Amino acid sequence: MLFVKVCNFTLQFAEVFDMEIYLDNSATTRPYTEVVDTVCDIMNNCYGNPSSLHRMGKSAEDILTNARETIASTVFCTPDEIYFTSGGTESDNIAILGYCLANHKRGKKVITQKTEHKAVLESFSLLEKHGFEVVYLDVDENGIVSSEKVKSNLDDKTILVSIMAANNETGAIFPIDEISSVIDHTKCALHVDAVQLYGKEKINVKRLGIDMLTISSHKIHGPNGVGALFVRKGVRIEPLCVGGGQEKGLRSGTENVASVCGFATAAKIKFKNLDSSTAHIKGLRDRLIQGISGMQNVVINSPDNALYSILNVSFVGVRSEVLLHVLESKGIYVSTGSACNSKKSKFSYVLENMGVGADRGDSAIRFSFSEFNTEQEIDYCIDVLKKEVPILQKIMR
Ligand code: PLP
Repeated sequence: MLFVKVCNFTLQFAEVFDMEIYLDNSATTRPYTEVVDTVCDIMNNCYGNPSSLHRMGKSAEDILTNARETIASTVFCTPDEIYFTSGGTESDNIAILGYCLANHKRGKKVITQKTEHKAVLESFSLLEKHGFEVVYLDVDENGIVSSEKVKSNLDDKTILVSIMAANNETGAIFPIDEISSVIDHTKCALHVDAVQLYGKEKINVKRLGIDMLTISSHKIHGPNGVGALFVRKGVRIEPLCVGGGQEKGLRSGTENVASVCGFATAAKIKFKNLDSSTAHIKGLRDRLIQGISGMQNVVINSPDNALYSILNVSFVGVRSEVLLHVLESKGIYVSTGSACNSKKSKFSYVLENMGVGADRGDSAIRFSFSEFNTEQEIDYCIDVLKKEVPILQKIMR
């Protein structure tokens, strides 16, 4: 009997411990099985070049056309307003640099805010080097900028405003509808990096008055290295990548048909199950908040109305990297910030810009959830945190 009990315990422990508890879904997500199957199927059976004139080329072109229709339907635009790219970074680059290249004669002032993803900030930094006046707006303690702040910085020379939909480290949601309403879109375009919000909430680019929208496949259980840029009809953009003229000349290079189709497959599943996955993920986030609420020196950095898939928490007194690796040793994968940032030692510029001090900044962990996570996983994570954090807080004091 005792033997059985011990075996059961060991088995349960092993089952839990062998689980990979992946709570880093803002960095990237596990692809749906259907996505993997689709990508393999196309690579095996439909590897033609969409530009080829024969039947195999036509089949590949048809796949692209269908995928474009699918992605367009998810953001409520027409298929000819969707351009496939290699991901969020490239979409941001094309939207910001390509738009400014095409429109600089109308003015050289552009506006963004300080907690954007590096794909946006580095694009603006390049523009600065080329003589543009770039306004980097401050965020408030909730990590957002108001439409009034954007409005007060607009003038006749402003040709572009780029504000993210939701922040990748804290989940802070920006008031895009209000920001859009203060812009005269005949003179100034609004670009929105929606990499984190896409697939979590419906985004209607027409209703919101968005001129360019960046989305990425691997945050919604699609393949890495593929994304899209919505460009409203009439908005002019110079290509950054020239050659064969694919994607209506905006982005040359033989299309990544298999991945694009994998992206569309992921989008179909994601939006079909949006209500149930939203409720499930919100439940997991709330369960974690509830579970850690009684712990000492734990502060939630995500604002109250943050995107439900991201929870940024400081375990004050424990360096982020240390806790990250302790959690990793227990099979739990989290992040200390965005994936691009997390290898650098200084604490997150996103938290710093929200006015978070070094004690909280140095101890911040980002948990990000997906529909694949379970309540059991969250409970295990809470147990590990409750056991390990007080020990680490004592050691590191
Ligand atoms: N923008 C935001 C807000 C992101 O979170 C990311 C990725 O983490 C990117 C852009 C870059 O997207 P990709 O990894 O597809 O290049």
